[in-house]
Order: sequence, then structure tokens, then C-alpha cells
Amino acid sequence: MHLPKSLAQLIKELSKLPTIGPKTAQRLAFYIVKSPKDKVQSLADALLEVKEKIRYCSICGNLTDDDPCTICSDERRDRSVICVVHGPQDVLAMERTREFKGLYHVLNGAISPMDGIGPEQLRIKELLARINENKIREVILATDPNVEGEATAMYVARLLKSFDICVTKIASGMPFGGDLEYVDEVTLSKALEGRREL
Ligand SMILES: [Zn+2]
Repeated sequence: MHLPKSLAQLIKELSKLPTIGPKTAQRLAFYIVKSPKDKVQSLADALLEVKEKIRYCSICGNLTDDDPCTICSDERRDRSVICVVHGPQDVLAMERTREFKGLYHVLNGAISPMDGIGPEQLRIKELLARINENKIREVILATDPNVEGEATAMYVARLLKSFDICVTKIASGMPFGGDLEYVDEVTLSKALEGRREL
């Protein structure tokens, strides 16, 4: 290909991003070349700033600029309910429903022996510590509706049996095999409302 070296490099870097195929990478790269310099500068700044500023909340494990995050430090939220999710994207999905008023606990993944991810790699110890140290009434398991999500929910539920708390799981009815983050708000609201005790 007769591409200038710098443009070829940009296309190569963009195509490493998830869901970006070579054609989309090319389209984005040409778009960037044609964009005014200040717009490209804002994009470059945002990329670097997110790497410098974003960290994990020391309480819930969600991504945040400030520790603790805005959800953990919001006094209006119900501190007796914890919703357990796989990743920060799932917190976003749950927040979009506007139904959940409690706190979150981000596990940072799912149990997946195929990928070599065991329970010890997830933030399960931290969850147990939170339950031990705070007055928790209910833990809602909102794991992905797929094999890894189910396995993770069952594992956590078993560990929580020894605590005097209500452990619920959001209702099935969500398309199986998917990611929670892609479930629409209405379906997710219904799943939350129809959660069942384990
Ligand atoms: Zn937090």
C-alpha cells in the first residue's frame, strides 16, 4: 500500500481497538487527517488524560477520577444494598435504568476456567470484607446472562450463605449468552424488579 508511514501507523494503532476492523480504522484515520488540528489535539488530550486520571474506587472497584467514587460517596444512596457486577460498564447499564439506589461492587471479571480466570483473581475477598464491615441487608447478583456469569453468581452466592443477609439474583428473561452492558434499560429494570432470593 502506498500510504505515508505516519498514516499507516495511525491505521495500525486504530485497528487494534475492539470492534474496529481495518476498513473502519482507515475511515477514522482519514477523518482525523482531514480534521482541524485543535479537534485532533482534544482527542489526543482526552486519550492521555483518561490514562492519567482514571483509577479504581477503593470501595466498589468502579472507575473514577476521585476516590471514593461519586456513587460510594453519595449519602443519598441506600448503603445497605450492594449490587454485584462484572465490570464498570455494567454499573453504567444499571445506572441507566434509574431504578437502583444502592451501592455497587465491581468484581473485575467473571470466573472462566477456559481463560484461566479463577475466583481469586476477582474482587470477591473485598466483597466479603465490605459485608463484614458494614450493615448490609441485601446483595443483588447482577452478573452477565451467560455461562461465566452464572458460574460466578453461584460461586459468590455459596460464599454469602454464611452471612445473615438476603442474596438475590436479577431475573432471567434477559437474552442468554450476552453481556449485561448491552441489555436495554427496560429489560434490565424488569430483571432487577423481578430478582429472586437464592
Ligand atoms: Zn465506589
